[in-house]
Amino acid sequence: MARTSQKFPGVEWTGDPGDFIKIDKEKCTGCTDCIKVCLAGCFKMEKNKAVIVSLAECMECSSCWYVCTDEAIIFSWPPGGTGFRTEWG
Ligand code: SF4
Ligand code: SF4
Repeated sequence: MARTSQKFPGVEWTGDPGDFIKIDKEKCTGCTDCIKVCLAGCFKMEKNKAVIVSLAECMECSSCWYVCTDEAIIFSWPPGGTGFRTEWG
């Protein structure tokens, strides 16, 4: 059964891709860039480190990985993708 979100009409997710994004706390400098770029609100700050709130509405954009120049974001592309799809294709 696909999941939908009122925040993102026309978007749905299927399956459970697991914890495909992790944060290396040792490397995280607390710059907050991942929080600023993530439209899905997957991250928050906790004790000056980024932590994952939920990946349930991740849209596979990989912006968090791209902006984290400290290489603290570990992005493992899940087999078959995250299950994210839109009505536009
Ligand atoms: S972008 Fe990287 S270094 Fe900056 S808060 Fe996020 S995980 Fe930490
Ligand atoms: S891939 Fe995109 S939507 Fe998913 S957590 Fe990173 S910035 Fe957010």
